[in-house]
Parts: sequence; structure tokens; C-alpha cells
Amino acid sequence: MEPFKFVRVQDAQTAINLHTAPNAKFVAGGTNLIDLMKLNIETPRQVVDINGLKLNTVEKLPNGTVRIGTLVKNSDLAYHPLISKNYPVLSEALLSGASAQLRNMASVGGNLLQRTRCPYFYNTEFPCNKRIPGSGCPAITGFNRNNAILGTSDHCIATHPSDMCVAMAALGAIINVHGTKGSRAIPFQDFHLLPGITPHLEHTLRADELITSVDLPAMPYAVKSHYLKVRDRASYEFALTSAAVILDIQNGRIQHAHVALGGVGTKPWRATLAEKVLIGALANEQTYRSAGEAALSLAKPYKDNAFKVELAKRTLVRALTTVGGMS
Ligand SMILES: Cc1cc2nc3c(=O)[nH]c(=O)nc-3n(C[C@H](O)[C@H](O)[C@H](O)COP(=O)(O)OP(=O)(O)OC[C@H]3O[C@@H](n4cnc5c(N)ncnc54)[C@H](O)[C@@H]3O)c2cc1C
Ligand code: SF4
Repeated sequence: MEPFKFVRVQDAQTAINLHTAPNAKFVAGGTNLIDLMKLNIETPRQVVDINGLKLNTVEKLPNGTVRIGTLVKNSDLAYHPLISKNYPVLSEALLSGASAQLRNMASVGGNLLQRTRCPYFYNTEFPCNKRIPGSGCPAITGFNRNNAILGTSDHCIATHPSDMCVAMAALGAIINVHGTKGSRAIPFQDFHLLPGITPHLEHTLRADELITSVDLPAMPYAVKSHYLKVRDRASYEFALTSAAVILDIQNGRIQHAHVALGGVGTKPWRATLAEKVLIGALANEQTYRSAGEAALSLAKPYKDNAFKVELAKRTLVRALTTVGGMS
């Protein structure tokens, strides 16, 4: 076996070149990767430390887009005035994640690529299609209280655990990447993959690509936005359900609606069916309830997580009410 290498780099091109080696991994905050390495779930032979790259700024571009460097820490992003004033939904999502210590370490790029918290994925005594393709999915018939009800397949029902990503899905963020073949911009909804028959493939980033930044579109009405997270305890806990909501209401009628759900989907879940109900409708309780029904209309609950269907509807109705009020 090749000796293990840990390489600290100062420029993106060197990082990308090193990452094309077989079994190489970037490390940013290390709060997910290092845990997975300790458990022998991830076993890279070369770890490329990207913390020396100059990718840690938050800036407003001339067209109003806010560009967030991949190495910006979750806590710095949450408290940055461009975010807390203009995109409270993202600020609240970040501050609802993990603990203060973890948020001080966790980076934007690492948060995008954090792996599921399905208990069978973490326990190497069990088979798991995500860890070992074709080995089986014990969660489908086993303990699945925290697993997904939207976007599942017969091969995997694991949730995507991020809070930040739910807000970014609602905001329609763009993920900027750079690789040996140049740069490209990936719309948020195209970045994470549904499990289908290949749950071990989780995103559309190529092995030679580094995430450099995330763009938030200019969205003046995002000042009226909110992230609501429901979980078993008040901190240091992943979502059972969550909702990110942005509403633009003029004269009591909803002009624009951006909605995403967390804790229920196999990827950060943009609730387009709910958005269709909301856009053009009066901002009232009946509309919010109809949006909740639409958002969960395709839900497929399992033995232990049927409660998530009603909980997710209520979470969404509460978040919509907080942002839109009642007319
Ligand atoms: C106890 C605990 C509780 C938590 N609770 C929550 C929670 O409630 N909500 C929540 O959202 N999260 C939670 N988290 C997860 C935490 O947010 C993530 O671990 C963190 O965001 C990962 O960021 P990182 O910089 O540490 O990533 P790392 O561990 O450094 O990397 C993670 C992955 O991203 C890749 N990567 C990193 N940067 C790049 C890049 N620029 N380009 C390409 N690939 C890259 C790495 O190769 C690796 O595969 C929790 C974590 C722990 C340990
Ligand atoms: S739900 Fe996915 S991650 Fe969990 S055991 Fe099944 S295949 Fe593995």
C-alpha cells in the first residue's frame, strides 16, 4: 500500500493537480472528513489541505451577486453583514447547525459535501450501498426514524444532513468550481444527486475539480426570509424537518416564493410544488396549508418516520406564517 501523505498547498492549481491522484481528498475544516477517516469509512491515501488558498472572502459583485469563498467558515458567514442583513434565511440556517465550535471550523465547501448521518453508514458492521455499492440497505427495513421520505430509492433512503444547503437551495445559489479543464458554474439543484441505483455517487463534482465559491443571486426581497429547524434537542442536533422560506408579498398577494425543505430529502429539497401553490395566491393560512400539502404530496414514509410527513407540513406552514404573516 502507498504511504499516507498529507500535503498543505498554497495555490489552487497545485491542489487540483494533487487531487487527481487516485484516492486523494481535499480537507478544509476537517470536521466531517477526519471523523470518517477515524472510522475507516473514508480511506484516502493523500489528503490535500486547502486552508492556505485565498478563498475566504465574502464580496458583493457589481451585478449584486454575493460571492462566498469556499473556505469561509460557517460562523463568519452567518454573522457577515451582507448575509445577516440581506439573506437572513442563510444566516439562520448556518446558526442552527452543529455547535459554535464546529461552526468555527466548518467551511462552506465542506458543508456542501458533508456526508449523510444515516446510522448504518457510520457502522461498518452493517452493509450499506452508499459505503459499499451493491451490499444492501439495512435502513429500509431497519431503524429509519431519521431517514428520508422524499427522493428515496430502493437502494438508499439517507437524508442529506446540511442546514446551510437547504437555505442555498431555496436561494437558487450557484456553485463555482475550477478544474484541469477550466471553470464551470453549477446551479444548486444540479449539484447533489438523488440516490437512484447509485447512492455512492452524491454530487456532480469531478475528481479534478475544486469548489472555489458559491454565488447568491441578488434578491432584494430575501430580506423577508426565515429558516425553521425542528430537532430532538435545541442544539448539536441534525434536523428532523426544516424549512427555508423566502416570500415577496405585494398587497397581500405572493409575487415570488422560494421554498426548500431539510431533514426529509435525500438531497437538499427545493419544494417546487409548494412554490407553484404560493405564487400568485393570497398570503393566508389556507394558502400556506395548501403549500404544505403540495410539498409533501410525493412523500414515501417508512416504518419509523411516518411522523415526518405531518411534521414537515407544519414546519413549512409555521415558517411561511413567520415570513408572510396572515392576511
Ligand atoms: C457533531 C456534529 C454535529 C453536526 N451538526 C450539523 C448540523 O446540525 N447541521 C449541519 O448542517 N451540519 C452539521 N454538522 C456537519 C458540519 O457542518 C460539517 O462537518 C461541516 O460543514 C464540514 O465542513 P468542513 O470544512 O469541516 O469539511 P471537511 O471535513 O474538511 O470536508 C468535507 C468534504 O468536503 C470536501 N471538500 C471540502 N472543501 C472542498 C472544496 N473546496 N472543493 C472540493 N471538495 C471539498 C472534502 O474533501 C470532504 O470530502 C455536524 C458535524 C458534527 C461533527
Ligand atoms: S439509507 Fe443509504 S446510507 Fe443508510 S444504510 Fe441505506 S444505503 Fe446506507
